[in-house]
Amino acid sequence: MATSARPLARQDQINWTSVIAFIVFHAGAVAALFFFTWPAFFVALALYYVSLSLGIGMGYHRLLTHRSYVPPKWIEYFLAICGTLALEGGPLSWVTTHRIHHKYSDQDGDPHSPNDGKWWSHLLWMTVGDATNCTPEEYRRYSPDLCRDPFLVWLSKYFWVPLAVVGVVLFAWGGWPFLLWGIFFRVTVGLHSTWMVNSLTHFWGSRRFATSDGSRNNLLVGLLTFGEGWHNNHHAFPTSARHGLAWYELDISWMGIRFLKAIGLAKAVRTASVDTKFRESATEAAREKTLAVSSQDR
Ligand SMILES: [Zn+2]
Ligand SMILES: [Zn+2]
Repeated sequence: MATSARPLARQDQINWTSVIAFIVFHAGAVAALFFFTWPAFFVALALYYVSLSLGIGMGYHRLLTHRSYVPPKWIEYFLAICGTLALEGGPLSWVTTHRIHHKYSDQDGDPHSPNDGKWWSHLLWMTVGDATNCTPEEYRRYSPDLCRDPFLVWLSKYFWVPLAVVGVVLFAWGGWPFLLWGIFFRVTVGLHSTWMVNSLTHFWGSRRFATSDGSRNNLLVGLLTFGEGWHNNHHAFPTSARHGLAWYELDISWMGIRFLKAIGLAKAVRTASVDTKFRESATEAAREKTLAVSSQDR
């Protein structure tokens, strides 16, 4: 349980980098509607899966933040690169922000709780203060494991490079339709899908476990994010690689991790099930364990 509030992010100024990026990408998404082709649509769909399931779900979230399974380093780096394609920042800021979210979930210090406003939790929290709302001390404190990995530190600094490279390739391959759909439309929809995990799944949906936060299981967000919408399950068992615990809770990212396990590329896979007894004390222990694991050399 959080005992002292993390000072809320520096909110005294507009974060123009985020604001301009959001405006440009939303404008590009609207422009894409005038350049529709089926090949461009399927390119966008494929990149949507690569960036949100391989990148955010399996990479940034379940692997880098919660260490819910252990793959070879090259898989970890590949998934991290896929994560940058979602344009949600580099792994260091994403993981640090998310570990802080779990520590203070829906309490003072949570970077994006709907208790501070639904639109705040959806996107406004990124439009004020510095780019990530994290300080270097927070990086060192919450993500020492990532800070010690030169590649992940480099990728965090140049997280926009893989997306820029993919954009150039798409433009050369299929012109404006591929660029607008594969980058601008796909990134914008992906951002809102991920943001819904921070906003909607903290106030709309069902609660299977009596967690101390407002987390919910939400089918719509579960489908849009390849399994991240089973957020009440996730807050109950943060280190479980599996978020959709019931047979009807489709969790594509869990299927990806199961596939890696089946071919010998994922070890020490941690899972909860729908029958796992929820205890608040166990959740607290799991949160602490995430931070403890993160502070070991890996
Ligand atoms: Zn949450
Ligand atoms: Zn999490």
